[in-house]
Amino acid sequence: MNKFSQLGLSQVIVDNLEKLGFENPTPVQEKAIPLLLNQNPTDFIGLAQTGTGKTAAFGLPLIDLIEDNNSTQALVMAPTRELGQQIAVQLESFSKGIKSVNIEVVYGGAAITNQMKALKSPTQIIVATPGRLKDLINRRAVKLEKVQYVVLDEADEMLNMGFKEDIDEILSYTNEDRVTWLFSATMPNEVRKIVSKYMNNPLEVAVNTVQQSNKDITHQFVITKNNNKLAAIKRFLDLQPEMRAVMFCRTKWQTQEIADELGQLGYGVEALHGDLSQSQRDAVMKRFKTRSMQMLVATDVAARGIDVNDLTHVFNHTLPDQLESYTHRSGRTGRAGKKGVSMVFINPREGNKIKELEKKLNVSFERVEVPTLDELKSKRIHNWANIIVNTNVDQQSGDILNEVAHLFGNLSKEDLLKRLITTQLDHLTSGGGEEDNLNEAYGGSPDKRDRGKFNRYFINVGSIDGLTKADLVHYMADISGIERRYFGDITMQKNRSYVDIDSGKDRGISLKFEGIEIDGRAIRVNKDDQGPSGGFGGGSDKGGFKKKKRKDRPRPDKRRDGGRRSGRGRR
Ligand code: AMP
Repeated sequence: MNKFSQLGLSQVIVDNLEKLGFENPTPVQEKAIPLLLNQNPTDFIGLAQTGTGKTAAFGLPLIDLIEDNNSTQALVMAPTRELGQQIAVQLESFSKGIKSVNIEVVYGGAAITNQMKALKSPTQIIVATPGRLKDLINRRAVKLEKVQYVVLDEADEMLNMGFKEDIDEILSYTNEDRVTWLFSATMPNEVRKIVSKYMNNPLEVAVNTVQQSNKDITHQFVITKNNNKLAAIKRFLDLQPEMRAVMFCRTKWQTQEIADELGQLGYGVEALHGDLSQSQRDAVMKRFKTRSMQMLVATDVAARGIDVNDLTHVFNHTLPDQLESYTHRSGRTGRAGKKGVSMVFINPREGNKIKELEKKLNVSFERVEVPTLDELKSKRIHNWANIIVNTNVDQQSGDILNEVAHLFGNLSKEDLLKRLITTQLDHLTSGGGEEDNLNEAYGGSPDKRDRGKFNRYFINVGSIDGLTKADLVHYMADISGIERRYFGDITMQKNRSYVDIDSGKDRGISLKFEGIEIDGRAIRVNKDDQGPSGGFGGGSDKGGFKKKKRKDRPRPDKRRDGGRRSGRGRR
């Protein structure tokens, strides 16, 4: 007997699963499905993250429990449009041939009128993101009073994204005797509050979560200076050119910039963040899935919808603000029984964060060293030699060799090898000017940013403008009127910089730069907070490029204090 029918699912669903190639239930399915199919509906908590088969764990019983009538009987809420779409696709495939189950998915960022039209047909299961569902309720396009089952999928993520009030409101429109099935990778207090408010003696099943960490993931960390992170990441990419990775950054700006910089150096890397349109995001994902690129650089929000099961590595360029999000990040690798590495890049002052992660998430980290250039070269050549020795020779290569053999003149085997090795090494040293040893010891003075006193700002002025960091502070102080002592850490890159400014002194700074130009280029200063809580779209770009109030250029000699200048003004 098929393992799925032993769980109590009906034959038509079991047949669908067979067609889909689902042979054995995953642990969360094995535990959850019999409980959820119970004749006496019960509240339920599933502690499981994406990749464990949780969608089928709630989706299969849900489809089996739907009755043959026209009312909306089930509501599945998910944090993002991508996850909503994935859930709906899975539910559709599980319910093939069952006429009484119609599924619609609704989410923000798409025309609401089309969704309203679709919901006019009897819809037994609605999959929704909370914000859009609330809009649809307000427009009376959905009726929830007959809903028997509410699924809150990735509850921790929904709360992280600020959907608490929407969820409260939506649940207030549902029947009191409905049951709630909550799925979450982590159980922070906010989720516990939802549980105690809306659920009655819920049954609980935990798999592969914080409590049972995934043994297939190796957690590693590297200590390097902030300025050397990118160089360090490049070395890991060079070391294993076959790796498939997602790298997480905190902000959209950082995401785009790192992807651009690596792309310019010839790495197969692209950015995925909320400033891209849906079609751009789809195109990026398509290229990643078809392996046209090696690494995706993403914000936490944008990465939530990624459905890729074969990542070898997850890189954490910066740790997430909420350490629990690390579980989501690292859980993108080590799936389906494959091994994976989750690597965190910290600066010397962040060692305590690794300890905190270990304690909070019950995982252990091992420290790894960034390879030195010599180690990198040697390992890379060994890998390369291995690949060459183990390559099956193509039939056609003999013919081509006959044609081109003369091009290699009278080179001896040794000379030929030396040249081949040189071409490999050329690539590795193309960055230029890098320190050999990028590793740092623990310690350093307390990080100003860790004191929670500073807000970080982006400004589209960088080293290309001929400024030093000190010049930039003078310039920004000049225009904003904020005294220089309220400026903190600065990271200056080619065409942009990130500047920490005392959170008590930075009010209205973006506005003060509106209309300011340098040589016809509008200067933008934006708060760099488009990370985990930033959400898709929007952003803080208030159109600084449009208004031209006054022209200016960062001339350090205009400094108020008339102090020494570096002599490196804009040329
Ligand atoms: P989820 O955790 O629900 O996002 O599922 C992750 C992936 O695993 C999806 O692509 C599912 O189609 C697949 N999947 C879920 N359950 C099974 C199963 N029992 N056998 C094979 N694949 C599965």
